[in-house]
Amino acid sequence: MLSIVLPAYNENVNIMKAYHAIKKIMENAEIPAELVYVNDGSKDNTWEEICTAAKLAKKEKSDAIQVKGINFSRNFGKEAAVLAGLANASGEACVVMDCDLQHPPETLVEMYSLWQQGYEVVEGVKRSRGKENPIYKTGAKLFYRLMTKATKIDMSRASDFKLLDKKVVKSILSMPERNMFFRGLSAWVGFKKTEIEFDVQEREAGESKWSKWSLVKYAVKNIAAFSTAPMQLVTIAGGLTFFGAVILAIQTLVQYFMGHAVQGFTTVILLLLIIGSVIMMSLGIVGYYIAKIYEEVKRRPVYIISEVIHN
Ligand code: UDP
Ligand code: MG
Repeated sequence: MLSIVLPAYNENVNIMKAYHAIKKIMENAEIPAELVYVNDGSKDNTWEEICTAAKLAKKEKSDAIQVKGINFSRNFGKEAAVLAGLANASGEACVVMDCDLQHPPETLVEMYSLWQQGYEVVEGVKRSRGKENPIYKTGAKLFYRLMTKATKIDMSRASDFKLLDKKVVKSILSMPERNMFFRGLSAWVGFKKTEIEFDVQEREAGESKWSKWSLVKYAVKNIAAFSTAPMQLVTIAGGLTFFGAVILAIQTLVQYFMGHAVQGFTTVILLLLIIGSVIMMSLGIVGYYIAKIYEEVKRRPVYIISEVIHN
């Protein structure tokens, strides 16, 4: 059986659409599937829609499709919803996809057949990114370039649309980290992997949940979660500044002995400014990592489930 994990936040209009679209394709391809909807603390009636889908699946008594629903006690974020879905999936393979149908369900069949050929990870990569505004596009490009440099794992065309074998799911779930970057982690675990291209579709309905600011925060969080490169950068910057400072100190001393000490005033001000700013920057970055450590050691659950339904 194939499990399909669908994180949903304020997607009431898309729940049934996704159900019908996926069901049709799974029935045609004769792949028994299980839909695992995770309601990530939606403010609309997404949960009621999920219950409706489960009831419908029960009534239709289709062998092709089963519906599971998981209800979070509040919004925990997409990453948490994906984890919860994977933890509650019972299929031999799991696909994670958005339930706004931006990830074309037709691709599921190809993913499934690649899995049958023995691949344990089938990454959906974006052939085209769909309609996006240019600022967002540039930001995303920059983020992925940084990530690729920092982690040595190419994620430039990665998406959250992917099929994972049960083994891979198990290894991801066994990771103790709280701040996880799903896109990066599934590349990091290794396993026998292949790619499949897809075109990002237009959103069926509703609107994107990502504000500009939340995207910036997402980028910073994931760079920190996946690499210590920013800390190394600061250390190097610190070393270079120190080198410059030594040269300037020698020059100041020479000036002093030659009796032109007042001229050094500019240098002092400059030094103060430069060193001050470097120290502040370093403290900020170190502090950021400490905050992350704090979050990890608290060992809080990544999500809290309030209800589970099953048809
Ligand atoms: N999502 C979620 N929790 C959140 C935000 C988003 O479960 O806090 C889900 C959302 O319902 C959708 C998927 O994550 O199924 C992708 O979100 P969205 O379509 O808003 O992102 P975009 O496609 O614009 O990158
Ligand atoms: Mg979307």
